[in-house]
This record gives sequence, structure tokens and C-alpha cells, in this order.
Amino acid sequence: MATLEVRGVRKEFGKLVALDGLDLDVGDGEFFVLLGPSGAGKTTTLKCVAGLETPTAGRVFIGGRDVTDVEPNARRVAMAFENYALYPQETVFDNIAFPLRSKRYYLPPAEAKSLIERVTATLGIGHLLERMPGELSGGQRQRVALARVLVRPADVLLLDEPLSHLDAKLRAAMRAELKSLGELQQTTSLYVTHDYLEALALGDRIAVLRAGKLVQVGTREDLWHRPVDVFVARAFGQPQINLLGGQIEQRDGEAAFVTPDGLVRVPLGPVDLPSGAAVELGVRPRDLVFGEEPGMHPLRGRIYVVEPLGRQREATIQIGSQQIAVVTPFEDLQPDALATVSAPPERLLLFDRDAGQRIPLAMPGGVEETPQWREVEVSGRG
Ligand code: ATP
Repeated sequence: MATLEVRGVRKEFGKLVALDGLDLDVGDGEFFVLLGPSGAGKTTTLKCVAGLETPTAGRVFIGGRDVTDVEPNARRVAMAFENYALYPQETVFDNIAFPLRSKRYYLPPAEAKSLIERVTATLGIGHLLERMPGELSGGQRQRVALARVLVRPADVLLLDEPLSHLDAKLRAAMRAELKSLGELQQTTSLYVTHDYLEALALGDRIAVLRAGKLVQVGTREDLWHRPVDVFVARAFGQPQINLLGGQIEQRDGEAAFVTPDGLVRVPLGPVDLPSGAAVELGVRPRDLVFGEEPGMHPLRGRIYVVEPLGRQREATIQIGSQQIAVVTPFEDLQPDALATVSAPPERLLLFDRDAGQRIPLAMPGGVEETPQWREVEVSGRG
């Protein structure tokens, strides 16, 4: 086990800047997730840590040792790629056992066998040990490659979308299984994904990357309830967070959010912005409830469309020229009917419309409880 530090790492490919001064601190034994859209620089980060790419500038430290100029095979890192190579002439068992027969990672055959059986059982491929790689599906091959990395002792584990070839159901099951694996619990791990559910389920902490830069790092609660900006708010949740465009109206030290057509007016308490400031009000579809609830802010509109979403429904409500999504267990929702939904004040997020930064609100009540993303998994989308 070891700490991992990435200090001001910049990586250029010709004119393209893949990483732009990246700083990361991963604790000893921490499971740290890198989340970001395609091209954000996630894989490049892993490669710089593994030594497969040399940073243009900046340093990488493992266990406090500067490894920036150390050869990959002298770094004690193990890396699983999204695209994996297996030896086609060897059985699954022999593919996984291969590193354990080397001088470096040698394990006596009986120990190797029991380790391989345990890890492959967890990954749901224990019954495939005698098969050849050519007889496996893409998802099975990917798990064999992952097993081969997991059985090998390492200071730092680097995992690049290791579940990407699995279907949604198996992915959800594997997320839970991976968490139970001792190898992953004990080893400092850097895990790349563009799937927010995977990030929320697995990450002790999550770093969100965009265009080679770190946007935010924090726990799942930080990212869900206190996103630094609209980009992070949108990165978590399906359907995505609702964002209503409007402006600030100040009166007697109290601010309100008002849409241009005046159809939505939400008191916000004291906000440090002048009247007329362009803002967006964010509320997650799962935080809205149908009906008018005491202490909540009503939003009135017309039901535009209703779609099934797992065991629930996603209703789109038209409010003037804007639309919001609501996830609800309600069955009796008729398109075109008038509807009122209520927004809990402590779940409202306010963003500066131009820069996209979140503006803190002094709302009553806390938001410290478990985020509602758990329901997202139960309802079966993603
Ligand atoms: P994805 O989710 O699609 O894998 P990513 O976040 O892992 O994306 P990277 O693979 O790190 O992104 O790529 C970051 C940027 O660097 C991209 O614009 C990519 O095209 C570019 N890039 C990566 N490797 C190279 C290379 N060897 N030569 C040139 N450009 C590269």
C-alpha cells in the first residue's frame, strides 16, 4: 500500500493539451475514482502514473517517492486497461496465473490456485477457468483481464473502465462485488470511469475531470449536494438535474429566483448577488414531489409527457417556455393536465448563469443525509 500524489502534471500531445496542471492526492488504501467525459484526460492520468506516458511537466509520487523518471516495471503499479490482451493459447486459469509464476510475483501453486478461485468467483467467472479466451464473450474476457491484475501484488492499482464491456445489470452486480474484494479494499486504487453510478458506488472520493483539468474532488455527498458548478451537477443523476433559467430579485435583504415570464418565483433567503443577476435554479428530478407540500416551494405547470422509468415514471412538466423532469411513483398522470410539484428548499441549487459556478444558499435544514442516488440504482436505469 502507498499514497499516490500527482503534482502539477501537464501532458501535451503536439498542440493538444491532454492534462493541464493536474493535482491529485490519493490516500493509502483509498479507492479513488476519476470521472469525466471522453477526452477529459482520465486514461492519460493513469498512464502517467503507470509510467507509460512521461508528463511534459509535473511529478508523480508513489509512497512519497518521486517515480516520474522511474521505469514502469519498477513502480509496483498494476494496470487494467479497457482493452485487454489475453494469451490466446492459454486457458483462463493460466492467463490469470501467469504473473504469479514469474520470479517477481511468485506464489506457490496451491496458494495461487486458491487466490485465483476466490477472485474469479467474486467476478463471476469461476466456472470459466478451463476455457480458452476465444471461447469467451467480451465481458468475460474483460473480467479475466481484471482478475489477472487483481491477483498481482501492487502498491497502486490502476483500473481503466474495467466494467465497460458488461451489460447494465451485470455492471451493477459487479460494482457491489468489486467493493467486497479484499484486494481492492486494501490497495490504493485509481479507477477510471465515465459512469456516474459506478463512481458513486465505488469511490471513497471522486475527482471530476474536464478538458485535462480537475473540476472538483470530494466524497459522493460533496459532489451530489455541493457541486462546484453546473458541469458537476449535470454529471451526476439520470435524468439530469433540472436547470431553470431566470434572475435574482432583491427585496429587503431577501433574494428570490424569478423566471423571465414570472411563472416561477422561489424565495432564496439572503443571496450575495444584485437584482437582475442571471442565474439558474437547479433541482434534481427525484427531489421534486407532486402536490403542494407545506414548507416547500410550489412550481406550477402542465404535464407535457410521461415515460416509464424502471418502477417509476418520469414526467416532464412545461412551465412557460421551460421544462422540468420529475421522477415519481404516481401512476395517474395525464398529459396536458395542470400539475403542481413541490421543491424542498434545502435541495435547491443556485448557479451563476454565465460562469456556471454554484452560489451557496443559506437554506434551512441540512443536506447531509445519504444522497438519493441509491434510488437511481433501484429504479433500474443506467
Ligand atoms: P475516454 O473516456 O474517451 O477514454 P479519457 O478521459 O480517458 O477519454 P484520454 O485518453 O486521456 O481521455 O485523452 C485525453 C486527450 O488526449 C484526448 O483529446 C485524446 O485524443 C488525446 N490523446 C491521448 N493519447 C494521445 C496520443 N498518444 N497521441 C495524441 N493524442 C492523444
